[in-house]
Amino acid sequence: MKKLILTAFSLATAFVAHAQLQPTKQTPESSELWTPVPRLVTPGKPSAVGSGFTAPSDAIVLFDGKNLDSWVSGNEGGGPAPWTVADGALTCAPKKGDIVTKQSFSDYQLHIEWRAPAKVDGNGQGRGNSGIFMQGIYELQVLDSYNNPTYVNGQAGSIYKQTMPLVNPVVGPGEWQTYDVVYTAPHFNKDGQMVIPPYITVLLNGVLVQNHTAIQGTTPYVGQPMITPHGPGPIKLQDHNNTTSFRNVWIREI
Ligand code: MG
Repeated sequence: MKKLILTAFSLATAFVAHAQLQPTKQTPESSELWTPVPRLVTPGKPSAVGSGFTAPSDAIVLFDGKNLDSWVSGNEGGGPAPWTVADGALTCAPKKGDIVTKQSFSDYQLHIEWRAPAKVDGNGQGRGNSGIFMQGIYELQVLDSYNNPTYVNGQAGSIYKQTMPLVNPVVGPGEWQTYDVVYTAPHFNKDGQMVIPPYITVLLNGVLVQNHTAIQGTTPYVGQPMITPHGPGPIKLQDHNNTTSFRNVWIREI
């Protein structure tokens, strides 16, 4: 009798527990979501040379190989972007200064292709050096890191002077390489403290090199990262005195 009561109690307990976890009868359809329907986007196509995709239908094209209409000089006073356009590529004009997009951004997916000069000249940080600055502040390093030792948090795919890349998937000098970036902007409270850091995920030539990396602050050549409150900012390309080229640059705000 005692055993029977216990069994009945166990069954009742199991039923209550089950009822709490499963308030309604579950069907395959119970766990299907049908709305909202993701927006239809027409993907780009592999670009003519190299592995990068051209802009999908909802992207803002920042450089399509023809002109610098979306860019200005990053020098004080602004003015036209002083880099050169030839053969579908945008090339740094050494000592003319950085260039920045006219438009500012916060959270985005960025695609950009780059090429270090075919003629190897210099070594370490002096070889094919440029950079892509998120919101004009945080540098994703561009460097010819093919058989070119340097500090690892300064090689291609690094968040400059902060986070080394997970691996080094670069190809040789003179070859086009792709960066696909997902970036979300930092958030600051009313006292100017950073409550959410910038996060960045980067694929270099299709290989993950930064995985949701928290950016610690500015990326200076000398000194530690600094945190200064800011709003939306441009994409900035660095003049590091090398003729590094870019092409097929597009961005999707998220
Ligand atoms: Mg650089």
